Amino acid sequence: MKTMSLDEIAGVIGARQVQKGSVNEVSSVCTDTRRLKPGELFFALKGENYDANDFVEQGKAKQAAAVVVSRVLSAVNSGTAVLQVQDSLKALQALARYNRQLFNIPVIGVTGSNGKTSTKDMIASVLGVRYKTLKTSGNYNNEIGLPLTLLSMDSSHQTAVVEMAMRGRGEIDFLCQLARPTGAVITCIGEAHLELLGSRENIAAAKGEMLQHIGPQGFALLSGNSSLTRQLAGLTAGKVLFYGTEPQLDIRACDIQTGSNGSKFTVITSRGQEDIFLPIPGRHNIINSLAAVGVGLELGLSLPEIKAGLAEVVLTGMRMEIIKINGITVINDVYNANPDSSKAALTTLADLGHNRRKIAVLGSMFELGCRAVEGHREVGRAAFAAGTEYLVTVGELARQIAVGAKNAGMPADRIFVYEDKQRACDCLGELCKKEDVILVKGSRGMHMEEVVSYLAQ
Ligand code: ATP
Ligand code: MG
Repeated sequence: MKTMSLDEIAGVIGARQVQKGSVNEVSSVCTDTRRLKPGELFFALKGENYDANDFVEQGKAKQAAAVVVSRVLSAVNSGTAVLQVQDSLKALQALARYNRQLFNIPVIGVTGSNGKTSTKDMIASVLGVRYKTLKTSGNYNNEIGLPLTLLSMDSSHQTAVVEMAMRGRGEIDFLCQLARPTGAVITCIGEAHLELLGSRENIAAAKGEMLQHIGPQGFALLSGNSSLTRQLAGLTAGKVLFYGTEPQLDIRACDIQTGSNGSKFTVITSRGQEDIFLPIPGRHNIINSLAAVGVGLELGLSLPEIKAGLAEVVLTGMRMEIIKINGITVINDVYNANPDSSKAALTTLADLGHNRRKIAVLGSMFELGCRAVEGHREVGRAAFAAGTEYLVTVGELARQIAVGAKNAGMPADRIFVYEDKQRACDCLGELCKKEDVILVKGSRGMHMEEVVSYLAQ
C-alpha cells in the first residue's frame, strides 16, 4: 500500500485515535498475529469462532505500529497506537477501497464457479512477462482476502489480477466496489453454491454483477462454451470477447494434444495464431488459459509474449498436480470438488490414463443443496463414461457416486464404498499396481490430501 500516516488512515476508516504510538506511518497491514511484522497496521477482525480484539489485549499484536480495534481495551502496549472503529472489517474494506483508487492501473477481476484461482495464476503469469503484476495470493478471494490483496497494491505495480468469490447475490457487486476492475473474466457458471442461489440462472446473475462495473474502455472475457455466460454479455458497457473451443469464438483453442506434463494446442485470435505449450494437464486448463490469452492481448502483449508467459505457469497447490510415485501416477486435485470440476478431472484421468488402469478416488461434494443426490450420481455416470476402471468413494454423500456408476454399467466388483478414509487407503494399498493412474478429489472438508499422502508413502 501507499505509505500513509495514521491521521490519514483514521480519516479514511472513520476511527478515533484513542492512544498515540511511537510510529506515525505504516505501509502494510495484517490481520493475523502469527504473521504480523513489526511496524504493520493490525486489524483486529471478529470471526464466528474468534475475536482478534482478544489477541490485542494479550499483547500479541505488540509489534504493530497501530491496531484497529472495535472494543475498548484494558491493556495495550505503549508504543502501539490504537485506532477505534465500530466495525474493523468495514474499516479494512474502506482502507482497501481507498488504496486501490490511488493507483490508476488495469485491474482484472476473475470470478466463476470453477477455475478462478487457476485462471488468475495464468493471467498473472502472462501479464508478468511485461508488467509488474499484483495477484491474489492463494485463494484470498472473499470480503477479507480481497481487501488484503488490494492493500498490497503499491506504486511498483503496473497491473493487478484479483480473484473474487461469492456465495449469494450482491457479493460480487460489493467486492467490485472495492476493486474497481477495468477488465472482467467469468470462467464458467456451474453449480457451486447452488444451495444458496437456487438455480444456475441466479448463479449466472450473481457472477454477472462484475460486468456492470466494466466501463466502455474496459473489457470482459466470457467462457463462450456456456449459454448462460453468453446471455451475460449484455450487462457490460465494455468490449466482450468469448473464449473456448467452438469455432465461432473470439479466442479459441484447436489441435489439442493432452499429456501428463501439460497440453499443446494452437490458439486462434483476431490478432493471429500461436502454438502454445501449457505445462499443466487438463482440458479445462486449456480453456482457463484462453482467458489469459485474452487479457494479455487486451493489455497490449504480443502472442509470443503470451506464449512465454503460459509456458511458465505454476498453479496454486492441490490443483491438478501430477505426482509420480513408484510408477503410479497420481492426479492430485483435492483442493475442492463439485460436479463440474469432478467431470473435468475425470476427463483428465481418461486423457492421462490412456491404455493404463484408471482409478478414481472420489470424496463427498458439499453445498449442492437439492442437487446433492443427482449431482453425485452424475459424477458416477461420468466416471464410467470416461472409462474409469475402478471407483473408490469416501463419505456418506459419495455413496451416490457409486450408485450412479453402477447404474451406468460399472461392474459392482470394481466399486468400493467407504465412510472412512483409512479403510479407503487400505483398499488402495491392495488395489494399486505399477502404471496405474489415480485421480484423488473431493470437497475441501473431506481432506482428501490424506489419501494422496498415503499413496506417496
Ligand atoms: P474456489 O471457489 O474454491 O476458489 P476456484 O474457482 O478458484 O475454486 P480452482 O481452485 O482454480 O477454482 O480449481 C478448483 C477445481 O476446479 C480444481 O479441481 C480444478 O481442477 C477444477 N477446475 C479448474 N478450472 C475448471 C474449469 N474451467 N471447469 C471445470 N473445472 C475446473
Ligand atoms: Mg479459488
